[in-house]
Amino acid sequence: CASNAKFFVGGNWKCNGSVASVRTLVDELNSGSVPSGVEVVCAPPFIYIDYVMQHLDKDKYQLSAQNCWISGNGAYTGEVSAEQLHDFGVPWVILGHSERRSLCGESNATVAKKTAHALAAGLGVIACVGETLDQRNSGSMFQVLDGQMQALVDEVKDWSKVVIAYEPVWAIGTGVVATPEQAQEVHAYLRQFCQSKLGFGVTDTLRIIYGGSVNDANCKELALMEDIDGFLVGGASLKGSSFVTICNAA
Ligand code: PGA
Repeated sequence: CASNAKFFVGGNWKCNGSVASVRTLVDELNSGSVPSGVEVVCAPPFIYIDYVMQHLDKDKYQLSAQNCWISGNGAYTGEVSAEQLHDFGVPWVILGHSERRSLCGESNATVAKKTAHALAAGLGVIACVGETLDQRNSGSMFQVLDGQMQALVDEVKDWSKVVIAYEPVWAIGTGVVATPEQAQEVHAYLRQFCQSKLGFGVTDTLRIIYGGSVNDANCKELALMEDIDGFLVGGASLKGSSFVTICNAA
């Protein structure tokens, strides 16, 4: 962990679960123990946020949404605004996840604008970046990451409530985790990028977390890498015991 902030673990439940399975997962999470030096955030689908808020142990876990609208309340059918999340007591939102970029057409500029808006509404933002396998193999990985990061740098004024999630697209949901060396290389690059654009004051406390096929078996060696300040976990966050193990990896 290179930053002077707490190790950060997010559980992205994506569009998974049912009333029954969410109840079970909340019970499992509540029975697990999480070190006080680790900040843990769970991101259920919108429809379960109320239940999770009422039943998940607040001493161990905070809540996050998986997305929000780009501006405030209004005629935006089907959307949920950052203002509503804040009003409801949800402190975090995940923005720019690769699934939203690829399936919902969210551009770098859209993600950056959403991030700035959510921050202004009082939320913390887990902002996701990452390259596809084609981009990595063709040598454009750093250029792609630069574009994603520069869009954020252009829009975000206050970085104190931003967590950057590096999630290589080829590692998400595939079971192919980045090696600790692959992840470390990119995390160090992203930290350097932020240092050069934002200065040491910001990067001293900026968490850069890794996501993509993190599980209870591979989390420890990833957590040893200097520039990995936590994880964003998809599949393994749906199993309480696995997620709790990952929360204890640091
Ligand atoms: P995964 O997903 O852990 O299932 O690979 C990570 C993510 O999409 O945040």
